[in-house]
Amino acid sequence: MRNGGVSFWWQQVGLPEPTDRLRGDAACDVVVVGGGLSGLWTAHYLHEADPTLDVRVVEAEFAGFGASGRNGGWLSSELPGSARAYADVAGEDGVTRLRAAVRSTVDEVIGVAAREGIDADIVRSGVLTVARSTAQSQRLGGELTAAQVAERVRVAGAVAGRFDPDCARVQPAKLVAGLARAVRERGVRIHEATRALAVEPGAVRTEHGTLRAPVVLRCLEGFTAGLAGHRREWLPMNSAIVVTEALTPSQWQEIGWSGQELLGDEAHAYCYAQRTADGRIAMGGRGVPYRFGSRTDVEGRTQDWTVESLRSTLTSLFPSLAGVGLDHAWCGVLGVPRDWSASVAYDPATGLGHAGGYVGSGLTATNLAGRTLRDLVLGHDTDLTRLPWTGHRVRRWEPEPLRWAGVHALYRLYRAADRREDAGLARTSAIARVADRVAGR
Ligand SMILES: Cc1cc2nc3c(=O)[nH]c(=O)nc-3n(C[C@H](O)[C@H](O)[C@H](O)COP(=O)(O)OP(=O)(O)OC[C@H]3O[C@@H](n4cnc5c(N)ncnc54)[C@H](O)[C@@H]3O)c2cc1C
Repeated sequence: MRNGGVSFWWQQVGLPEPTDRLRGDAACDVVVVGGGLSGLWTAHYLHEADPTLDVRVVEAEFAGFGASGRNGGWLSSELPGSARAYADVAGEDGVTRLRAAVRSTVDEVIGVAAREGIDADIVRSGVLTVARSTAQSQRLGGELTAAQVAERVRVAGAVAGRFDPDCARVQPAKLVAGLARAVRERGVRIHEATRALAVEPGAVRTEHGTLRAPVVLRCLEGFTAGLAGHRREWLPMNSAIVVTEALTPSQWQEIGWSGQELLGDEAHAYCYAQRTADGRIAMGGRGVPYRFGSRTDVEGRTQDWTVESLRSTLTSLFPSLAGVGLDHAWCGVLGVPRDWSASVAYDPATGLGHAGGYVGSGLTATNLAGRTLRDLVLGHDTDLTRLPWTGHRVRRWEPEPLRWAGVHALYRLYRAADRREDAGLARTSAIARVADRVAGR
């Protein structure tokens, strides 16, 4: 089994050689820091709105090196953050508008991919969420009975489920590589192998020179902590994925997964899975949640016990796959704000802006954030700029060692809550409610 190498998705298409490294000082109209989906969508929409703008992206490795090229491929309509946090600033109406905007963004992404000729194995197949205990079922509030769940996928122990049609399966590296290609074709330069060292009004200092621009947009998500002055802003939370060898037709038949729907569960330490275009299961989950001092992984390598834990989740869902081989494992970082809710912001006075903090739901939200940043930078007052995540303010995380101890304690609590619920508790465990309060969710 291969571990790391950025991700299985990148190994499938081949790791790119970084291009167009910044060579000395330069000036342009807009600098986007970070070449993931947030940065690329922002560059795409800004340049589409005003093709005269000289927009440049500064990327430490290569476009799509981060979460955007490593994720589970759920292009979902899930809210990127806590409904309660958004309701506090914009009321229930604000939450409803944000939900609707995210939902319609699923088709926006699919539409742009089609127009730009991006083939990312996209299938608008919906997502099946299963409950495997009474407490999970109560939380999920799903409409599918155990028998109806089994008609879609035979998940061991499923007692109920919910199907949301507004979700698509994607191959993440193909999506982000295709978008980078489309953005370059527009004339946007992506300076790869160019790490930003500091971001300030009017300039981004990089290891190869300073890029000056009146507008500087930070799109670093889980890597934000690595930038001077931003260490405690968003916590880099790990998520890891394993991918099986290609299953045989009889193995697919055995587990009854004949469609392409995404699959997840309602545990506190939830899992997410997809059936890949080449007939494997890619399944992700939390693993080791956080590394001391906000460190990130090395090229996606994950810990052995995380691999074993994901293997046991896979065989718990599908006991008949107990002997199936795993071909690849990797991990990546999500950006987690202190209230677990995303934000998009731009200050015309300084020319500084940012987007991110989507926790585990950024594949769709990055597109919405890119369009929102476009409107904010261009000074347009639109439905997007009035969504509750615009200008959303969050306090910083605690300093170490509190941050490390707190996050690990939190995940111990969630695992304990799952064990109690699996043992037959009829409602969501009080332990999980305590964990939610401690987490600030
Ligand atoms: C394992 C995993 C599974 C996930 N599954 C899903 C899913 O199924 N559905 C979903 O909706 N979301 C999922 N997510 C979350 C989603 O992938 C992210 O929210 C989204 O990709 C964030 O995009 P981004 O562009 O903001 O950040 P990233 O893609 O992380 O991009 C940040 C970029 O900044 C670059 N960078 C870092 N430091 C610097 C620097 N100093 N200077 C310049 N560049 C720098 C990095 O190399 C990187 O390319 C998952 C995330 C992970 C890790």
